[in-house]
Amino acid sequence: MDWSRCIAYLTFHAPGLTPEPLRQPMGSWLYGCDVCQNVCPLNKGQWDPVSSEPYLDEIAQHLSPRSVLSMKEEFFHRVVYPQFFYHDDFVRWQVNALRAVGNSRDQGAEPLVRKHFSSSDERLRTMAAWAAECLLQP
Ligand code: SF4
Repeated sequence: MDWSRCIAYLTFHAPGLTPEPLRQPMGSWLYGCDVCQNVCPLNKGQWDPVSSEPYLDEIAQHLSPRSVLSMKEEFFHRVVYPQFFYHDDFVRWQVNALRAVGNSRDQGAEPLVRKHFSSSDERLRTMAAWAAECLLQP
């Protein structure tokens, strides 16, 4: 595999913003995709990919792209981060959410995208502009 195109790598390991040509193919994944784990023959019979995890069920409602875009940083560190201790970059979560709403053409998220036009973080400003362009497309 080409790890530089892996959604898991791009959503929480790669430095900087995801290169523009890769943003659209990443779709609306917020955090990895793990399709490889579901289809790997070595995992066959070793886990049940549809079973729920109570600790994740509790925070799942907060992990939609819209929720992440409207989330306060204090809430992220108190509620989300303890379950994702290796992904502590709150801005990156929001950058991923902007790419996700852009790709899903979620017109209802447009005010949340606009809110990030004036962010103090350049990554958020750049991805908000990219997402807004996506929302203008049919
Ligand atoms: S299937 Fe696995 S290797 Fe492929 S993009 Fe998803 S997480 Fe990465």
